[in-house]
Amino acid sequence: MTPADIEFDQRHIWHPYTSMTKPLPAYPVESASGVMLQLADGRQLVDGMSSWWAAIHGYNHPQLNQAAIDQIGKMSHVMFGGITHPSAVALCRRLVEMTPAGLECVFLADSGSVAVEVALKMAMQYWQARGEKRQTLLTLRNGYHGDTFGAMSVCDPQNSMHSLYQGYLPQHLFADAPQSRFDGEWDESDVAPFAKMLDENHRKIAAVILEPVVQGAGGMRIYHPLYLKRVRKLCDEYGVLLIADEIATGFGRTGKLFACDHAGISPDILCLGKALTGGYMTLSATLTTRHVAQVISDGEAGCFMHGPTFMGNPLACAVANASLHLLAENRWQAQVLTIEKQLRDGLQPLAEHPAVADVRVLGAIGVVEMRQPVDMAQLQKHFVGQGVWIRPFGTLIYLMPPYIISPEELSKLTGAIASALAALY
Ligand SMILES: *Cc1c(COP(=O)(O)O)cnc(C)c1O
Repeated sequence: MTPADIEFDQRHIWHPYTSMTKPLPAYPVESASGVMLQLADGRQLVDGMSSWWAAIHGYNHPQLNQAAIDQIGKMSHVMFGGITHPSAVALCRRLVEMTPAGLECVFLADSGSVAVEVALKMAMQYWQARGEKRQTLLTLRNGYHGDTFGAMSVCDPQNSMHSLYQGYLPQHLFADAPQSRFDGEWDESDVAPFAKMLDENHRKIAAVILEPVVQGAGGMRIYHPLYLKRVRKLCDEYGVLLIADEIATGFGRTGKLFACDHAGISPDILCLGKALTGGYMTLSATLTTRHVAQVISDGEAGCFMHGPTFMGNPLACAVANASLHLLAENRWQAQVLTIEKQLRDGLQPLAEHPAVADVRVLGAIGVVEMRQPVDMAQLQKHFVGQGVWIRPFGTLIYLMPPYIISPEELSKLTGAIASALAALY
């Protein structure tokens, strides 16, 4: 890339959550392979982010490449209205088999946010079909469910700046986020605020939506699985649907195939995305029980009212199949366990640093929470200088590397965080 390309980028191209007048630096990446990102100037960076939870098998993977090539030789895309194809059928069959029990009907869409929109619409249509007007959602503070309007309405009201869209966003109910840590004592009173809200409002609540066990972009909080178990029980008692957003946690990241498995529960609706295609392209899936699908289908509309242009995109489905095939070989369990242990050993000592508020680790997720918000540009420059790609946000410096990372490469990531704390704080 030429300096003119970089200049054009800064002047004309939005990046995630950036300003067009004061853009943050964007590092030019020419290629990526395994866990390494190659910068335009030739420098190699160890990837600590899996491109936001997605690239679990690393980049430029021969089997994923081959799946894309094979599919492209047949067809990249064909409409899903009135047509089906082998890649979609194979993928949906696999998803029904591997996800928690009872989830049988699959809706394929283009991104995580859309999977959440689909889930919310399913919950609304479910109650409409049953002749009840229920349009309120109950969720948790510190949650994150995407950037489209429906999804945003259930994101943490502070973090996602609900005030910017006040009057346009629907109003939902927010229970206090769980306080019991994953690795700590379970406190039965933790679920009381949620239970109270549900008890007082259940007649108008269509669904509860939450991120099981790990709250991602809303604060990287890792909570006790018994909370999730209690929520499932309460939803059953009050006859309210439970939507689990596993867009970040799905496919082994937390040490279980799905975070719901930590609590041994099944949701009524499950959202998947991010790692679904091993980080190759955008694809998401919303799964429901037969019961939910049946009620919606027997309702007044007679169908579920959603159908994206690129629904069931064969290219994305083919790569997703190859990615899930790699997962099915089950090496991810050993990989994630090894990463977890090393993240604990490498990050836990940093909790002693006066600028650090907390350190937490689950599966292939490691979080160093600072007392004050970090200077992202400054930290990132330090990390790139150390040969690693780590993108902090707010008070959080965190790692979620590809599962294939080696111990030496992971040491480089944890070492870079330690050196940043020593050099800058
Ligand atoms: C990233 C994320 C989303 C949104 O997915 P996009 O593909 O970015 O639209 C929704 N929910 C959770 C939990 C996520 O981590």
